[in-house]
Amino acid sequence: MATDPIPAITLNQGGVIPQLGFGVFKVDPAVTQQTVEAALAAGYRHIDTATGYNNESEVGAALKAAGLPREQVWVTTKLRNDHHAAGDVRGAMERSLMMLGLDYVDLYLIHWPMPKLGLYVATWQQLEQFKAEGLARNVGVANFQVAHLEALAERSGLVPALDQVELHPLFQQRELRSYLDRHGIAVEAWGPLGQGRFALDGLPAIADAARAHGKTPAQVILRWHLQSGFIVIPKAVDPAHMADNIAIFDFTLTPAEMAAIDALDTGQRLSADPDEVN
Ligand code: NDP
Repeated sequence: MATDPIPAITLNQGGVIPQLGFGVFKVDPAVTQQTVEAALAAGYRHIDTATGYNNESEVGAALKAAGLPREQVWVTTKLRNDHHAAGDVRGAMERSLMMLGLDYVDLYLIHWPMPKLGLYVATWQQLEQFKAEGLARNVGVANFQVAHLEALAERSGLVPALDQVELHPLFQQRELRSYLDRHGIAVEAWGPLGQGRFALDGLPAIADAARAHGKTPAQVILRWHLQSGFIVIPKAVDPAHMADNIAIFDFTLTPAEMAAIDALDTGQRLSADPDEVN
């Protein structure tokens, strides 16, 4: 099936990341290879995994089986929380590359700051090194709040390429986004569809736009992310969802529809608070 080209965003470290990716959190390792192969066949060119998802080697097997030129697929993985401990960060990065069967990843992220450990600045300095060595073409963070980003800025010259955070119509991260915009850090939305924590068709602003454009509520939400400038990585094991989520480049939400979805922000997270994950 032909799909429209996926737009890309140029990151502050030079990487050009497809704005729509495919997330594999909670994709059972037993079906990860076939799921990622199906996603690549459907046209996705950006896969978001993590050591903590226990499916890096299956993602690697799918990449190998698909046989696409390496530079045509963006691969992100993340440092698992228990690998912040000094000395283990390099081992974790090397094991990820081995599992993925790659010489480099396009993006390596600190998965959570784990603030009580007090190690994320030291970990970041290791990631700077990985970038210098070419093990990761771009490095960034996930679940970092303003205070964590300020601590990095004080002790490192390298600005994260992006911050991957919980972000969806009910939790829009306005304060954090304002900081990220001012510092040239791209915004990447995890849980972009709310992780099943709210009914996608239960919000009139979304249901009305879906009806107006002949699209599903999920497509409207993903389109809102794109038009807001976010990088977005929905997860979909169901082939119908997978196809739905990439068919979002042939319509545009009006300013009024965007404003109505902007107005859904509750300011309340639906998932974990990064300061409490330790
Ligand atoms: P999502 O918001 O992407 O929601 C996934 C759920 O939505 C699944 O149940 C999926 O069903 C369903 N779904 C997908 N597409 C549709 C559709 N078109 N219509 C209806 N339902 C749909 O949640 P995730 O938590 O998976 O977030 C996305 C990605 O973000 C993750 O996979 C991971 O890569 C990343 N992430 C990062 C985190 C971090 O700490 N950095 C934390 C959490 C996620 P089904 O699978 O059955 O198709």
